[in-house]
Amino acid sequence: MKKERKEISDSVGRRSLLGMSREELEAFVTSLGEPAYRGRQVYEWLYKKRATSFAEMTSLSQPLRQQFDENALSRSLTLLDHQESTDGTLKFLFKTLDGYNVESVLIPSEARDDQDEPKRRTLCISSQVGCPLDCKFCATASMKLKRNLVAGEILEQHLRVEELVGERITNLVYMGMGEPMLNYDEVFHSVRIFTDPANDLVPASRITISTSGVVPSIKRMADDGERVKLAISLHVTTNGDRDRLMPINRKFDIAELMDAVEYYYRKTRRPVTYEYILFDGLNDSPEDVRRLARITRRVPSKVNVIPFHPIDFTEPTGISAELHPASPERFNYFIGMLQREGVQVMVRSSSGVDIDAACGQLAIRHEAILLASK
Ligand code: SAH
Repeated sequence: MKKERKEISDSVGRRSLLGMSREELEAFVTSLGEPAYRGRQVYEWLYKKRATSFAEMTSLSQPLRQQFDENALSRSLTLLDHQESTDGTLKFLFKTLDGYNVESVLIPSEARDDQDEPKRRTLCISSQVGCPLDCKFCATASMKLKRNLVAGEILEQHLRVEELVGERITNLVYMGMGEPMLNYDEVFHSVRIFTDPANDLVPASRITISTSGVVPSIKRMADDGERVKLAISLHVTTNGDRDRLMPINRKFDIAELMDAVEYYYRKTRRPVTYEYILFDGLNDSPEDVRRLARITRRVPSKVNVIPFHPIDFTEPTGISAELHPASPERFNYFIGMLQREGVQVMVRSSSGVDIDAACGQLAIRHEAILLASK
């Protein structure tokens, strides 16, 4: 039996159409007494032609457009705030229909093309409001999980940011708020629409799903033949420390995680990326290098070494309060050792500022600002 997808509607019951597949839109227009092909037209308007309102859908009759206005929504997020940082990174804060904050971050690459434009524009999108996983270094953890985002809200982050900046987004990473692999159905439904060639949004080869290690979803992704890239937030190489820093490790430990990664590789033949935040004195020793190297040799892979972004503004307690970034010297030393072990290492920007990882911070800061100004 096909699972019903979640839908959202506004206070007067208008259904949000963004996120609907062709078939779902056909069913929707049929419920309004229209022929199914109208649904396919709306699909094209929403995604390929990037229409922002029903008024723009000029191939539909005026009365039908009016019917849509009365029964449906073409957008569900409201832009609350945006910030540009000196390195060109743009953060956007949206509000959902039910009043939750969702953030997205646009990161232009430092590499430039012939016109001196960034070669890539990567959008970091959120998949949940908050997150249930409680990773001790992550700002989103302190929000807990409010709810899953629906596919339309995930897609809309992309469409809205493109509209706002007037530039095409070239890459997508599911690295904003939330654990995408705990919202599997809506996340992969959004992937389906992003990667539909008819929509010309983002190809699968330029989409990355990042997970803290939800083992059943990693296997399912392999079984489903998904073609997007997989990144694993490993960060720690011993179960004792990973249990403390990432409680999900108590459910799926490193051995199980590695088995899932191997399963994924055997099925897909796609390399994986490991993310590794470097903390001072916690996971930055020569033993860590050796363990990390051993892990990464299991399947073709590379490692993103990420500087830790302190989350002091969340007023951390317990172990969270004891985490500090490794010094730049230690960072370079660690990378050098990893490379000598033959590991393919990626480091973000020369400034050492990893903006992706700052995801999750804007919404929280915003809440703090609102609370403080009450
Ligand atoms: N839940 C998913 C995706 C969201 S987090 C996951 O865990 O992969 C995206 C990445 O940012 C993860 O690798 C996460 O571990 C990292 N991250 C979270 N907080 C960070 C911080 N304070 N500094 C650096 N990286 C952080």
